[in-house]
Amino acid sequence: MSSPRNRKLAPPELPADLARAALEAAGSVVFVTGRDGTIIWVNEAFSAFTGWSPEEAIGQNPRILQSGLHDRHYYARLWSEITRGHCFSSRVVNRRRDGALYTVAQTVTPLPRGSANPTHFVAFQEDVSAEVEAARELEYLAYTDTLTGLGNRRSLMERLDEVWRRREPVALLLMDMDDFKGINDRYGHEEGDEALRRIARMFRDEGLGHSAYRLGGDEFVVVLNGADARDVSAAEGRAWAVRSAVVARNSVAAGSRLSLSAGLAFAPAHARDSSSLLRAADLALARAKASRSGVEVYTAALGRAAARDMAIRQDLERAMAGGGLSLAYQPIRSLNSGATVALEVLLRWHHPRYGEIAPAEFIPVAERSGQIGALGDWTLARALRYYGRELRHSGIRLHVNVSPYQLRDALFASRLARLLAAERLPGNVLDIEVTESAELQGAGAGEVLEAVGRLGVGVIIDDFGAGFARLGSLADLPLTGLKLDRGLVTELTRSRRHRELLAGIIGLAHSSGLRVIGEGVETPDEAELLRSIGCDEGQGYYFGAPHAGTLREPVAS
Ligand code: C2E
Ligand code: CA
Ligand code: CA
Repeated sequence: MSSPRNRKLAPPELPADLARAALEAAGSVVFVTGRDGTIIWVNEAFSAFTGWSPEEAIGQNPRILQSGLHDRHYYARLWSEITRGHCFSSRVVNRRRDGALYTVAQTVTPLPRGSANPTHFVAFQEDVSAEVEAARELEYLAYTDTLTGLGNRRSLMERLDEVWRRREPVALLLMDMDDFKGINDRYGHEEGDEALRRIARMFRDEGLGHSAYRLGGDEFVVVLNGADARDVSAAEGRAWAVRSAVVARNSVAAGSRLSLSAGLAFAPAHARDSSSLLRAADLALARAKASRSGVEVYTAALGRAAARDMAIRQDLERAMAGGGLSLAYQPIRSLNSGATVALEVLLRWHHPRYGEIAPAEFIPVAERSGQIGALGDWTLARALRYYGRELRHSGIRLHVNVSPYQLRDALFASRLARLLAAERLPGNVLDIEVTESAELQGAGAGEVLEAVGRLGVGVIIDDFGAGFARLGSLADLPLTGLKLDRGLVTELTRSRRHRELLAGIIGLAHSSGLRVIGEGVETPDEAELLRSIGCDEGQGYYFGAPHAGTLREPVAS
């Protein structure tokens, strides 16, 4: 078939001997067979590539090249196409004379071309083994964690999808190292990587090479096939065995043992898809970490707590935008005169579904979710507005709680300055209360507090004596006051030694120019004892519970 265009482009005739020489010298494998398929001619590349010399190949059937990997239908189709005059192109895996397999892209063309009654066939073969190898390598990389050689997250997900399809019960054991960051920090990333590889090796040694996956970082998953949620203890036993095997056999550079925490979750009992199964195992793992218990199994209660956590996270935005959140004010009184010297601002949240949610619950959620910055600004703005309207010239101070997470924000002090300016208030009407904590020591909190102090705002350490009672570590902070935790106050009535100790601490605080406030004062006894050991101020139900303030909080602004 030749169109006018083809005619125009048709190459000049090639002399027959030149055409043959060209085929002979071609880089691709070329061979010609008769009508019955017997090889009658092969080029140099054929011999070089397949290992069959022309003398050996000629007279044979191309079957000598077959790898056995293609079924009879493949050859039947090939034969049926070419005998009807059609070209047939495909990828074929062939076998060399020495037995090695290779992949070629092959085109078989009947001669004369297009004839329904061909007399010969010519086959062209292009070696594509390298390409096939590269594709295989890519596939391997896509499913393998290159550091450890274990399957990666994607390969785990596909494995789980397969398990769902077959409706098989399965359990996931999610593990991570207890102090991976510490290992990296102390011994370097090389050692951290080596620790991960050692864990992977252990999985292989335990015969878990095909059930273990690394999800990234120091997170590993072992799939426990056939684990049944009705027999938690059996699976838990397997979980402990796996974990103990890792811990027993692995130590880090300096000889200290690696330790792992693990969370266990079952499907279909705990989850209906792969990602929720992983999430359930993750919740169990978080519990194991928090309680340092080693292995924990997912429970419905854990799930409910997480759901509530999530609801708090989501609803907090809405509550800030309008509704539910409000501020309460609790008096702080002079222990000598009984006069109200300050008010502490306390957040209140009435949730449409859960009712009252305590700040002790939602503040930590907001700290974890990063919402604490916005919530803190919300509180400061409203408290200062309230103060500006109601207490501007009262001489009463305003105490606002500030999370250490808020102090990680270098711009905290400048925002605070703006909020004060917006209400035309000087800094010295305000005190911020910060809980003594590890967070307070790191990440620039000191500088932020310095900047807060320069505004004239007081800085008070809250819950003093509840946890981290390290006076020394507080010496570097620009403090103006100390709030004794309720625990210290109740101890007062119980032991004389305790009273003396506390009197000493108060004396020390006074010598550094700090105000001292006792909190959680519930009885006249406590108030009197505090006064007698030199404490300046008191706060608690005895002096007055938190109240809504004289001004209703605006619902939205
Ligand atoms: P906190 O700063 O130590 O606040 C004192 C807590 O003790 C308040 O609980 C208060 O209602 C309660 N309380 C007052 N008097 C007494 C008493 O005589 N006996 C007893 N047993 N308790 C008393 P609340 O309001 O539930 O706040 C709990 C914690 O939540 C606060 O502890 C504070 O750490 C945090 N919080 C509250 N509001 C805020 C806020 O606006 N920002 C930040 N960052 N944290 C806040
Ligand atoms: Ca406080
Ligand atoms: Ca406190």
